[in-house]
Amino acid sequence: MFRNLLLFTFSAFTLAAAERPNIVFIFSDDHAVAAISAYEGLYKEVAPTPNIDRIGKEGAMFRRSFCANSICGPSRACILTGKHSHKNGYLSNDFDTFDGNQVTLPKLLQSGGYQTAIIGKWHLVSQPQGFDHWNILPGQGNYYNPQFITAQGTQKHEGYCTDLITDFSLDWLKSGRDPKKPFLLMCQHKAPHRNWAPALRHIGMYKDKTLPQPASLFDDYANRTGALKTQRMTIAKDLSWGHDMNFHGKNEFPQHFNNLPNGEYARMDDEQKKAWDAVYEPENQAFLAEMRAGKLSEKQITEWKYQRYIKNYLLSIKAVDESVGRILEYLETSGLAKNTIVIYSSDQGFYLGEHGWYDKRWMFEESLAMPFLIRWPGVVKPGTKPEAMIQNIDYAPTFLDAAGLKATAHMQGKSFLPVLQGKQEKTREAIYYAYYGENTHNVAQHDGVRTETHKLMYFPATKEWQLFDLVKDPQEMKSIHNDPAYADVLAAMQKQYTTLRAEYEVNDAAVPKDRLKEKWWSARHQEKVQQLKLKGNPDLVFLGDSITQGWEGKGAEAFAKHFGERKTLNIGFSGDRTEHVLWRLYNGEWNDVNPKAVNLLIGTNNTGQVKQSPVETAMGVRLIIDFIRDRSPDTKIILNSVFPRSAGKDDELRKLNDEVNRLCAAYVDDKHVFLLDMTNEYLQADGTLSKEVMPDLLHLNAASYEKWGTALSAKLKELGL
Ligand code: CA
Repeated sequence: MFRNLLLFTFSAFTLAAAERPNIVFIFSDDHAVAAISAYEGLYKEVAPTPNIDRIGKEGAMFRRSFCANSICGPSRACILTGKHSHKNGYLSNDFDTFDGNQVTLPKLLQSGGYQTAIIGKWHLVSQPQGFDHWNILPGQGNYYNPQFITAQGTQKHEGYCTDLITDFSLDWLKSGRDPKKPFLLMCQHKAPHRNWAPALRHIGMYKDKTLPQPASLFDDYANRTGALKTQRMTIAKDLSWGHDMNFHGKNEFPQHFNNLPNGEYARMDDEQKKAWDAVYEPENQAFLAEMRAGKLSEKQITEWKYQRYIKNYLLSIKAVDESVGRILEYLETSGLAKNTIVIYSSDQGFYLGEHGWYDKRWMFEESLAMPFLIRWPGVVKPGTKPEAMIQNIDYAPTFLDAAGLKATAHMQGKSFLPVLQGKQEKTREAIYYAYYGENTHNVAQHDGVRTETHKLMYFPATKEWQLFDLVKDPQEMKSIHNDPAYADVLAAMQKQYTTLRAEYEVNDAAVPKDRLKEKWWSARHQEKVQQLKLKGNPDLVFLGDSITQGWEGKGAEAFAKHFGERKTLNIGFSGDRTEHVLWRLYNGEWNDVNPKAVNLLIGTNNTGQVKQSPVETAMGVRLIIDFIRDRSPDTKIILNSVFPRSAGKDDELRKLNDEVNRLCAAYVDDKHVFLLDMTNEYLQADGTLSKEVMPDLLHLNAASYEKWGTALSAKLKELGL
């Protein structure tokens, strides 16, 4: 009997293992495809990537793999959620915090029976959720003797970051997991992120070589938007004396170098510093002697900087490649390899001197492209180079598909499992991209679409289009948006752009936006997040703009009368539009909130302040509803129709709000979303709005708050709350 049970358990296990592959996702930071020799770019002869190449040789290498937003945190958020940035709330690294309460890939794998682990760079501010095991770098992390954070706290480790991440990953594979369950391991390196500090065993590797330099290193930015000239990410002007170029002491040439010191060097112990200096100091001193003697031209100085940069960048990759080698070797020797999907990817590309740049952010090919190599024995045919355009929002649906699990309806990516299986050539005709702008490097906000042959970009600040022919001009040196010969292409691309923005639900009312520059707003947001932490989950939430905030002013008496007995949270903010509400929800005002009901009134500032269309406004309202439904499925949403405004019923703003209400009525299902319509309470019989109801024909007086309170408490009672 016991023996039979054992046999049964064993066969169930082997069956499950055969059906459900493990996923080892090896991910680096800022690794451009040109710096992988298999991709056959400028550095194919020198890129130190034999192990990364091997994944492609034994599996597939995607050459049309792109990010949705070319920046660290946002790319990671896209991968975890399968959604574009505006739908996962992590738009930029400036002020956003990843809302880990949303549905994510690791959570879905976990509930589907997988074990999940993330080791290395996380970079999403909030704590990881959905992982059985996590051991992450704080923020950007460090190369030398870095700190790691676990659920138990922060600990400093002696050694080199890439090696430590590999050690910790192997430890988890060997002894940290339950061998009976399939797993997802996300092994995420800091390298080769700035400041490109290689391991000591590699620093001299290109010592006597001059590495190739890209044709556009001295790009003059002609024939393209002026935004190219105002960025701050050039090799010539924006690298730092210590941080990027490894000089010690005072910056001797401030006209050529920024002042940031080398924090990595400061972290090294004496022995590490000695080994470091033995390689860099002779080169540094030789260069400085020539500089002091005034022997070098601007061009030569830039070329020297370029060599220092590209060598350190490629050398930082060497340890990542060794990490890949160690993991592949363990998978072989442990027998896991045959049922394990191995992926190598990086959060976005990087400029290796193209257009004179380092860094990323732009929709140009070098930073739009992500490496994507995948090995899956028995499924992916070795040596394939699929033509399909894939994007980081596709990873979650694809991995879930591979695990036999379903993606959620809200995920925007598409599974490319059929491409991996060789059953389908492509999954889409175009990708959508959006960069929302950040303070660092001053790259202008832009979005756009890319097809197999063309790329369209739009810069909202200057209302400029850019169009590139990727076949004739692969380096994107000339925008042809004004070229009459391309008029049809431009029109088709603009149509594609409009279609994709509608499909992905991108518009000003739907893209989360903060108002942190307004002090009172920022302070009120902090206060509300704090109130949640201190007082815990409220029973009833009031969510909206100044009319909701007014419960704290003219409506205070009515509020006390109707809701004083309840545990409430008022997150109404004067002047807010749907996009501001969305930002607040993603950034802490809905942290672990699970109220019985929420009263939502929003939209009048969308139509009134900035003339957003009713369609866009209603979409913003729906995304707020979706957000609450996703995090708090049991909460009843009492949707207030937008209050009437302006005196006459034919006034433009009144009509716009009527249209918003007509569209929003579609969200009312009387199961999760219930309507509270005050229109007839506030209007005269002939449709006019009296100043006795709303003194400024927009905001309520005390008597009108009393009416609202009465109606809302009746609604709550009707719902049994
Ligand atoms: Ca990055």
